[in-house]
Order: sequence, then C-alpha cells, then structure tokens
Amino acid sequence: MTGGADAPLVPRYRFTGRSDGDLAASAPGVGRRRQALLAQPWTWLHQVHGAEVVVVDEPGAHAGVRADAAVTTVAGAALCVTVADCAPVALLGDGAVGVVHAGWRGLAAGVLGAAVEALHRLGATTLRAVVGPCIEPACYEFGGEDLDTLTAALGPELAGRTGEGAPALDLVAGVRAALAAAGVGECDVSGICTACSPEHWSHRGSATTSRQALVATLSPGPA
Ligand SMILES: [Zn+2]
Repeated sequence: MTGGADAPLVPRYRFTGRSDGDLAASAPGVGRRRQALLAQPWTWLHQVHGAEVVVVDEPGAHAGVRADAAVTTVAGAALCVTVADCAPVALLGDGAVGVVHAGWRGLAAGVLGAAVEALHRLGATTLRAVVGPCIEPACYEFGGEDLDTLTAALGPELAGRTGEGAPALDLVAGVRAALAAAGVGECDVSGICTACSPEHWSHRGSATTSRQALVATLSPGPA
C-alpha cells in the first residue's frame, strides 16, 4: 500500500522551560501559550500524584481529568503534564506515545508501570523513555519512612545524598528502576536539576506555582 494516510505515526515531544511561559493549568493566558507551542487540542491533567492513566482516543479528550499520565495512538492530540521538580517522562513507542508526571508519591503509587501497561494495551510493542528536567538528589533532602518504603520497593540506588550530606531521594534513579521493572530499559535523561537551573521553575527552590511542561504528540513521519 502507498499513500500518506498509511504513513506511520511518529512520537514527538518537547520539554518546556521558563522562556516558554507558565504552563500551570490555572495560569492566566495558558491556553494561548499552549497553542503557541503546539497548535492542536491539548489534554492537560488535574495531577494528584497518583497512578491514574487516561487513554486519549481523540484530540483534546479528558482535558482537566484527575490523572497523572496520558497515552494515545491517535494523531493530532497534544498530551501534557506540568512539573516543577517532579519528573516529566515521555514514553515513546511504535505508533503510540505517553506522558507521565512522576514525583515520589507517583513512583510509590506505580504510575510509570501503569502508563507502560496502558501503552502495551494500545498495541505498542517497543518503548523507550526520556526524562526531562527534575530535581536532583543534591537538592532534594528526603528521608525517613517514605525513603525506606521507596528503596524497599525500587532499590537501594534511590537513596542519595544532598550537597550537605543529608539523606536524599534520587528521583531519576527511581524513574529508571520503575521503568526497568516495567520492561523499559532504554531511558535518556536530561541531567538538568530544576532547583539549580535558572531556566526552570522549582517548587522546592522557591515554592512557585508556575510550571514547565512536557508536551507530546503523534504525527505522520518517515517510515
Ligand atoms: Zn540542584
């Protein structure tokens, strides 16, 4: 068969920064900024640090729904999660794409495994992940029972140290471990710490309500 209608759908994604403007759902003018980034219907989420995944079956479906991940196999849908220290994770598949908001509560709740499972149910057979700017252990003091719970579930490599030597959470190590447990071994990492980067917002750094975003979509591309 030949023809554009049969061209495979290829995942595309972008991690935004301060220069793209505040993409928090409550920010004035956010709709205009979304369309300036990607002029198609957006699915943003009412994020609650849980493991709910929405399946977007038409562009713009489930906008504002309470969930922390979105997946799709349809072209022209903009999937978005917003962050300011939590990890934004793009899941890139063959004819499928997903976005995940993963902080420590989401890791504990299993949001990454749930999103991978949802993509497999949609028919994706190969997946790789890209982790955008998030807080690094040097800036993320974290300890006690919550850290013990996470290391018990996902591995000792989640226990890090801050710059001052205090117990810390290595969020990226947690994302890697959760993805590996779900069968996704290929994971690229931005290496940018939101608390250190002047180009990004950080909740821990400044208690800001502003958010950067991960936005992802599928569009026809070269085979
Ligand atoms: Zn930092």
